Amino acid sequence: MYFGSVRFFKHLIVAVILLLIFGLTISTISLVVINKNYKGQISEMQSGTVLAQSNLVEESSQNSLSIAYQELYPDLHATQAEVKRIELKTVYLTFDDGPSARTVEILDILKKEDIKATFFIIGKEGEKNKDLLRRISDEGHSIGIHTYSHVYNNIYASVENYLDDFYLTYELIYNTTGIKPEIFRFPGGSINKYSAQDYVEIIAEMTRRGFTYYDWNASSGDAVANATANSVYSNTVQSSEDKDRIILLMHDSISKSFTVSALPGIIEYYKARGFKFECITNDVSPIAFNYINY
Ligand SMILES: [Zn+2]
Repeated sequence: MYFGSVRFFKHLIVAVILLLIFGLTISTISLVVINKNYKGQISEMQSGTVLAQSNLVEESSQNSLSIAYQELYPDLHATQAEVKRIELKTVYLTFDDGPSARTVEILDILKKEDIKATFFIIGKEGEKNKDLLRRISDEGHSIGIHTYSHVYNNIYASVENYLDDFYLTYELIYNTTGIKPEIFRFPGGSINKYSAQDYVEIIAEMTRRGFTYYDWNASSGDAVANATANSVYSNTVQSSEDKDRIILLMHDSISKSFTVSALPGIIEYYKARGFKFECITNDVSPIAFNYINY
């Protein structure tokens, strides 16, 4: 009898072994095929990602090329100083909104005291007082750009408007004094309610062009209504008391005769504290407003 015989069991064992070998071979082959497909998919996905990334790079470089205002006024550039100075016991007197008849009086006081200061001028006032622009420069003071029109609504409406206005004053200063201005001050400071929409873009563009802006950390308060020589002096002292490095905001527009009257006392105050007086050049480390609260 074959079933149950020793021969039968021998054949059964051989058949089981052959089946096992066959099964193992089949599963190994399928694993290899699956793995191959999987790898193919991954490399496809990877090349897809690379393609998507290269598309992104292309798009972003196209975007940066499409910022039209970067092409405006190709000569409107400044060379930034590589090292910025932070000098303590130093005060930088700054006068905005001139030049005017007050500027003459201020220059006389500065000359008598042998002190240098910085004038952030309004272009349309400079147009009328070109001799004063030359005098400021000849006597060793700094000239910076404040604005041409000083009309906040217009200059802060767009980066293009800001550049249009800025360039007029840049050209005026360069053509009148032979000096290319490198520093500037925003009307109302670097951020104010008019510039809040686009100040980041304006600052970025002006910085890209190499210009340096300076806000202030002490104010004479001479722009407020009812200011007097006394209030200008006491505001200056009050806002300077706790500081060792000061950029002081003042104005030399035509109505500021009280600023002129207060100036000798202000100079005395800083001298008594042992301060030296410097004008701002672009190697002076800027004082800029803090934007966190805006
Ligand atoms: Zn101003």
